[in-house]
Amino acid sequence: MKSVCIIGAGLCGGYLAKELLINKNLKIKVIDIDSINDKFKSKILKNIYSNNHNNITFIDKIIKGYGFGGNSNYWHGGLTEFDDFDLNKLDFFLDYNFSTELKKYYIETWKSLDIENVSTNHLNYKSLYKIFKKSGYFNFKKILLQYSPLKTRSILHKLKNNKNLELIENAICLNLNKDKEKKIKSITIFSEGLLKEIKSDYFVLASGSFETPRILLQSINHGNLKLNNKNIGCNLIDHPFLKIGEIKNIFKTKTKLNYYKNNISNNISLSLAFSFVEDLKNNKLNHSLVLRPHINNEVIEIKANLKKYFNDRNYKNLLKLLIVKLYRFDLFFKLIKLILIKKINSGSKVDVFLHFDQLSSKENKVILTNNKDEYMRYIPKIIFGNNQNEKFTITTASNLIKSLLKNSNYEYKENKNLSNFFYHGNHFSGTARISSDNKTGVVDKNLKVHGLSNLYICDSSVIPLFGSSNPVFTLITLSKRLAKHLNNVIT
Ligand SMILES: Cc1cc2nc3c(=O)[nH]c(=O)nc-3n(C[C@H](O)[C@H](O)[C@H](O)COP(=O)(O)OP(=O)(O)OC[C@H]3O[C@@H](n4cnc5c(N)ncnc54)[C@H](O)[C@@H]3O)c2cc1C
Repeated sequence: MKSVCIIGAGLCGGYLAKELLINKNLKIKVIDIDSINDKFKSKILKNIYSNNHNNITFIDKIIKGYGFGGNSNYWHGGLTEFDDFDLNKLDFFLDYNFSTELKKYYIETWKSLDIENVSTNHLNYKSLYKIFKKSGYFNFKKILLQYSPLKTRSILHKLKNNKNLELIENAICLNLNKDKEKKIKSITIFSEGLLKEIKSDYFVLASGSFETPRILLQSINHGNLKLNNKNIGCNLIDHPFLKIGEIKNIFKTKTKLNYYKNNISNNISLSLAFSFVEDLKNNKLNHSLVLRPHINNEVIEIKANLKKYFNDRNYKNLLKLLIVKLYRFDLFFKLIKLILIKKINSGSKVDVFLHFDQLSSKENKVILTNNKDEYMRYIPKIIFGNNQNEKFTITTASNLIKSLLKNSNYEYKENKNLSNFFYHGNHFSGTARISSDNKTGVVDKNLKVHGLSNLYICDSSVIPLFGSSNPVFTLITLSKRLAKHLNNVIT
């Protein structure tokens, strides 16, 4: 029986394992750094990313999702396809009509998630939708939101007794070891205090945008892997976003701007989002606008602190928070609403968020320092900065919205206190990007590493651009596609 070894059981690794197990003639080994029954106990990933980075204020976020399930333990459930503008760019990277193939797989992915036939009829904010759409400046963008986002940890937990699945728990991958041919013969892992070697016929790196390039670079540095590819670790991109203003219904009609109930199903809602037509015309970046029900940040902050103090059993601070903050009845009732019925809409206001597409650049990257940790891993360094012209985009978008809403029932108030701080989108990618040519990328159209015959990469590092899209929907699709490809290659 042939075997496939998946390194990392996050969103992609977990989903890929599930899809591969459909083939009863395959043995699947899945490695991750905690135990499937004992959530988030491992600190070994967290430690390596805790220092040594330039300009980085987001370390806690990027290493949030580790252990079985990876970032799928934390993600927000936003699902969207790459649009035509993004797909055309992907075709350019791959030098063939990849988009036509991907679109066919997209249809299968919607089916497998049980979400089909969603249209703008399911939207709330219909009058706002009409104003934006009619103006000709915006393209509607279908973003669906799962209330209970898919968690691959739960999927693997259900499959753990499958006799074709071997979960290698509490283990960290250190090195890939190549034989004389163009093949990986084994990997070295550290588990239960020992170095061990795991053999397999095929290997899939699914360790995420930071660990996947780090493992590759480390194996090259150790001399275990000969691979001449200058793109490994480079071209790191994210999807930063920022609240740029608020739209208020000045006539206070009874139309509630309710986010959470719009008749699709109990688990799904449709968000009001747009990409910019003008950007597309000029072949520039594909930024997008997302309109969400107004959230009282104070309430969100109180909720986060309550949870934190409760978990840490910090009863002194818990009490202080209750006394100091919750004497205000308005905040108290909003908090109860948020916790109990997940309703955080104000009824007459929406927040306007701008999500930024970013140009990839060789300057933004993951590199290895000369320092090693106790597991003999080279400590990585992340170099990352925002693009310079994002302020211009904010002003242009705000002016456009203001002029659109001039003679309507709505009023736009731009956020005057924009600091330099952007929320990082948690969508890091690009560090082992897909390309037909090993001079510009790391994996080919089938996600196989250029120059090796049995090593694949299946995680967010392969995505070269985001455009206006969240990654998970495309990542699930790529995992499904890779499962099919491996089945064909192996059988
Ligand atoms: C708060 C938050 C909200 C988000 N919301 C959304 C959203 O609404 N929509 C959307 O599309 N995306 C969202 N994302 C992004 C999305 O979750 C990620 O893009 C996605 O999970 C990436 O999947 P991955 O398989 O590449 O990596 P991960 O899910 O990070 O998995 C990597 C796995 O590899 C394991 N690993 C790492 N190194 C090693 C090693 N050396 N040995 C063994 N195992 C290892 C890790 O433990 C982990 O399990 C969000 C992310 C966060 C953090």
